[in-house]
Amino acid sequence: MSNYAGSPLLSLVVPFYNESEALDAFFMRVVPILESISSTRFEIVCINDGSSDDTLGKLVDVSRGDARIRVIDLTRNFGKEAALTAGIDEALGDAVIPIDADLQDPPELIPTLVQHWRQGAEVVLAQRASRATDSFLKRLTAAAYYRVHNSLSDLKIPENVGDFRLMDRAVVNALKQLPERHRFMKGLFAWVGFSTVVVQYERAPRCAGKSKFSGRRLWNLALEGITSFSSVPLHTWTYIGSVIAALAFCYGVYIVIRTLLLGVDVPGYASVLSVLLFFGGLQLIGLGVVGEYIGRIYDESKGRPIYLVRRRYQEHREGRTVRKGKVISLVANEQRS
Ligand code: UDP
Ligand code: MG
Repeated sequence: MSNYAGSPLLSLVVPFYNESEALDAFFMRVVPILESISSTRFEIVCINDGSSDDTLGKLVDVSRGDARIRVIDLTRNFGKEAALTAGIDEALGDAVIPIDADLQDPPELIPTLVQHWRQGAEVVLAQRASRATDSFLKRLTAAAYYRVHNSLSDLKIPENVGDFRLMDRAVVNALKQLPERHRFMKGLFAWVGFSTVVVQYERAPRCAGKSKFSGRRLWNLALEGITSFSSVPLHTWTYIGSVIAALAFCYGVYIVIRTLLLGVDVPGYASVLSVLLFFGGLQLIGLGVVGEYIGRIYDESKGRPIYLVRRRYQEHREGRTVRKGKVISLVANEQRS
């Protein structure tokens, strides 16, 4: 598809995972807003991230009636980060906007994002003005997470910013050059840099369905973020080890001197055991941290693609559904333009 007609193309990238309930509301609200933006064309790139409900069927139906809507069906659930990567790879737009399917990111903000982009911003970040719609626990853990991440990592990720943002084509191309399998999108978005404008918004509650992120998934995402952008947890063991070794040495000297001066003192079973257990535990934690990193190195070294596409659905202008890529195509990062 070429940029005919000269007017810039906006790509909305939407990951769908079991979003059957939210799907109709999403298109009903988003399409009129996109149509209202003057002198632009748009496409909506929908990624079906291995949904087990009828999300795919519904998406294909919607795309049949509208050539501007494309559907990319992944072979299984690869997770939101991989689905977003797929969408960003597939998007053809001059500006790309990832957005959640559950209408938590207000589409009404899109014209504002586009306006800032037209004024020259390369990235327009949508920042949540407050976390009022989140539970107390989520607010607490999110705040703690940003603090920990930003103190450990040289790369600061802006607080309360999700994946909802506008990126210029130059930024998208830069992003497509990052080869890592472990994709912590927030971090990657921040890593590429570029001139950024921040726009505030209120995050709405989910319009339908349930959140796909359980506590465990969020924990894994948090670990992903830290291990992808900081090696501080690895270095700290050097310092912890040195401090403990120094203390142990001093204590050793003290014992030798005390034995020379006061003679042998047999009791001490309890203290020996507790020190032993303490250091045993410390060593296991250290090993665990090293293991987290080695596991990630192992995953990266396998070099598997980030996602697999089963099929692409797009209605052509003549009104015929084309199914591209019948054979599972191993598209990982190659540039497609
Ligand atoms: N999502 C996805 N794959 C997953 C989990 C989620 O594509 O494995 C999509 C989901 O369909 C939605 C977006 O990611 O469009 C955000 O998910 P959700 O609303 O569940 O996350 P939350 O808003 O609770 O953080
Ligand atoms: Mg949501």
